[in-house]
Amino acid sequence: MEFKNEYLQGVYDKVCQRNPGEKEFLQAVKEVLESLEPVVEKRPDIVEAGVIDRIVEPERQIIFRVPWVDDNGKVQVNRGFRVQFNSAIGPYKGGLRLHPSVCASVIKFLGFEQIFKNSLTGLPIGGGKGGSDFDPKGKSDAEVMRFCQSFMTELCKHIGADTDVPAGDIGTGAREIGFMYGQYKRLRNEFTGVLTGKGLSYGGSLARTEATGYGLCYYTAEMLKCMKNDSFQGKTVVISGSGNVAIYATQKATELGGKVVALSDSNGYIYDPNGVDLAVVKQIKEVERGRIKEYCNRVQGATYTEGCKGIWTIKCDIALPCATQNELDGESADILIKNGVMAVAEGANMPSTPDAVEKFQAAGVLFGPAKAANAGGVATSALEMSQNSERLSWTFEEVDSKLKNIMINIFHNSYDAAKEYGMEGNLVAGANIAGFLKVADAMLWQGISY
Ligand code: NDP
Repeated sequence: MEFKNEYLQGVYDKVCQRNPGEKEFLQAVKEVLESLEPVVEKRPDIVEAGVIDRIVEPERQIIFRVPWVDDNGKVQVNRGFRVQFNSAIGPYKGGLRLHPSVCASVIKFLGFEQIFKNSLTGLPIGGGKGGSDFDPKGKSDAEVMRFCQSFMTELCKHIGADTDVPAGDIGTGAREIGFMYGQYKRLRNEFTGVLTGKGLSYGGSLARTEATGYGLCYYTAEMLKCMKNDSFQGKTVVISGSGNVAIYATQKATELGGKVVALSDSNGYIYDPNGVDLAVVKQIKEVERGRIKEYCNRVQGATYTEGCKGIWTIKCDIALPCATQNELDGESADILIKNGVMAVAEGANMPSTPDAVEKFQAAGVLFGPAKAANAGGVATSALEMSQNSERLSWTFEEVDSKLKNIMINIFHNSYDAAKEYGMEGNLVAGANIAGFLKVADAMLWQGISY
């Protein structure tokens, strides 16, 4: 028995039977169900209406062929996914991941998490996720464009400004969103807010690029303030990854008085004891699409180490994993704890293994889970949707200040929910419960179709 509650055990057993071998999806479901034990005790109406049985099954899953022609005239075939998980509180919303590791399990774990994250933002957005096993790395712009056009040729049949609004994620940045948007418009003859993360010249929102990283730091700052009466000021910070989330987390953590000493990519990590020079990182990663290793050729005193995991051996006060799922395991958690880490907040989705989370919580390290800490990206995407509907553009300051308020509210709602359900200080349980209750309520109101 993995659960104390028999009903939850039954739900989980069924999910395991239905989704064999989907380890990331099962990991995400298990974590949420564990948090729901006290809810199930208090709310028999939710159990009776089968809300939890329903919420673990996507409303719709689309898997499709994506054929495209490479620069040598050779036909390539990738697999495309869109999982429309839950639309109880709004149109499906969630990013598109382009990475060779993409499979049904990864998209379903991300889509499932997205339901609760989107609910936590307080905005009217349902949960979804998509992507492909296509790898943009090493491809020419023309190849990326042909792939994106083929991908959207099928995807456009299933999405829409009031139905499902995808966004960026790993491997899907401004370039890919632009190509996909262009193709959607060509096929549907509609200029509409069907994607977020768009360029500023065609309906994008100011501060969307920065939102996930900035939001992560706003959440972390609030967690430090309320739970330890502390701040980023004077703290040493280690951030994994060097993509969109990592770059803007570095920028905000530095602005708030922290010193970011390490960043990584999938090959290795850099250590700069003087604090990372972000202009150099942006030039390498955003302009040249190069490798993080290059940083050491440009900045004196910095070192590079091959392999990603070693980044967690660097002594720090605050650790912000911002690369990918399960990148921080129990062994790395032990080292961080031994080195005196005081707070860990997740910029990536599910970057800490369950073992690592347990260790942080047992050691009294403040732990901010992804679905709360990185919700700033999707929240700002929802703000982009509002601007598109109004056909207006808000200023950077306006969007940034809304983002900050949303992150502060997410922290407090999670904190309060954990307290109400007898788990004070457990922000994982608090985020799961607060996110779940709003969706459950909407599902109860909307009934079941017979
Ligand atoms: P990017 O593609 O911009 O950057 C991803 C970074 O993580 C790169 O440095 C990449 O290195 C590294 N990385 C990716 N896969 C792996 C891997 N398997 N092992 C080690 N390193 C890896 O993506 P984002 O910054 O947008 O996304 C990062 C994380 O944040 C993801 O988990 C994403 O789901 C999450 N997130 C993103 C949001 C957003 O708004 N962009 C919103 C909420 C969550 P390399 O270049 O070598 O591949």
